[in-house]
Amino acid sequence: MRFYSTNKQCSDASLEQAVMTGLAPDGGLYMPVHIPEIPRAFFNNISEMTIANIAYVVANTILGEDIDSAWLNSIVTDTFSFDIPLKRIEENIYCLELFHGPTLAFKDVGARFLARIISHFAAESVESVNVLVATSGDSGGAVANGFLNVPGVNVFILYPENGLTEMQKMQFTNLGGNIHPIAVRGTFDNCQHLVKTAFNDSELRKRMKLTSANTINICRLLPQMFYYFYGVAQLPELEKKIDNVVISVPCGNLGNLTAGLLARRMGLPVKRFVAANNSNNVFAKYLKEGKFEPQIASKTIAHGMDVGNPSNFSRIMDMFNGDFQSIRSVINGYSYTDEDIRHTMVDTYSIDNYLLDPHGATAFKALKDDLRPGETGIFLETAHPSKTARIMKDVTGVEFKNEEKIGNGHRPSNIPRISSSYESLKKILLSST
Ligand SMILES: *Cc1c(COP(=O)(O)O)cnc(C)c1O
Repeated sequence: MRFYSTNKQCSDASLEQAVMTGLAPDGGLYMPVHIPEIPRAFFNNISEMTIANIAYVVANTILGEDIDSAWLNSIVTDTFSFDIPLKRIEENIYCLELFHGPTLAFKDVGARFLARIISHFAAESVESVNVLVATSGDSGGAVANGFLNVPGVNVFILYPENGLTEMQKMQFTNLGGNIHPIAVRGTFDNCQHLVKTAFNDSELRKRMKLTSANTINICRLLPQMFYYFYGVAQLPELEKKIDNVVISVPCGNLGNLTAGLLARRMGLPVKRFVAANNSNNVFAKYLKEGKFEPQIASKTIAHGMDVGNPSNFSRIMDMFNGDFQSIRSVINGYSYTDEDIRHTMVDTYSIDNYLLDPHGATAFKALKDDLRPGETGIFLETAHPSKTARIMKDVTGVEFKNEEKIGNGHRPSNIPRISSSYESLKKILLSST
């Protein structure tokens, strides 16, 4: 597969080039030059398949020319060391629990797959590879967990100093080794901007090999398609529902939604997507008014979605040739305040006896507001409720006593703190080589 840049100002790249550079040289995001379709017959037996089986078929369809089948098989088997069960919540509404990975976040899927691909290419290279990632919460832990102790790979994780929960920080700030946390006095958008600036700094890129572990990187995005197929596969009596499935996605940087749209292009039967925003509603507003106006992100209780300038918007635009009506025919958007999200968490716990974290609650609410009679809805639950323990206790009264700690249990020390100006980041990166 070749990959083109959404800015279309540079030549196509191989898989290795796309994965090992992250961002295209013209500043655009990579996309596959064509999206191969999986024959409809695949869906006749999909209900009997495991997540790893499904992932193999999907991955092989798109990356089969680049990765030999034994290697691909071991990558998907290693990636899915955990299940992604679909739970029935209400009549016609199902929850796809994406939080059973090692850091209890859906980002484990993309991070684990990407880490295995990068470590393969890094093993063939003499120079070490530097992975940059900006995190609004869960990417940091998932990426650190995926890359910890991978030889030849250094990981720099930029996070907003005051934007993460204790547990999220514990997952990556105290690991040491090849994992380097950097606290930024600013928001997630500032972190993301710093990463982008580093990628566009040609002098830096001459001096060190840099790639991204955010959904900028196409190999973090592609594996997120797998669980959309697996979610649909688990619907009881799928043959009766197959043409009426609606999937609701809690959106931040729009990576998850983009992966869903790609899965649909590959043939996954999805009638439409529901994009659920918190009060950072840039995308929901775009869907309503046709204007994309990035904002400064504000802090909400669904903080993994606190993004004011979602980076994958350009991929979505590109997939639909910028045509607003085509985008609107496939995606409906909603946004909710913290108050709405809290109400949904309380109601779902008391009525359905199901505990939703704030991200899943946002997607559930949007699905309920969107679903029509005769349709079957799936919403994505992207983080385990224990990851936002304090909010869970305040809102639902449910306490998580034994928060799972990943890392060595030590308080992190000596984490560099930088402002949101680029020079301080550059200094840190250069001093590490
Ligand atoms: C990152 C994140 C999201 C948003 O996903 P995007 O792919 O950035 O849109 C949703 N929920 C949680 C828990 C997250 O960590």
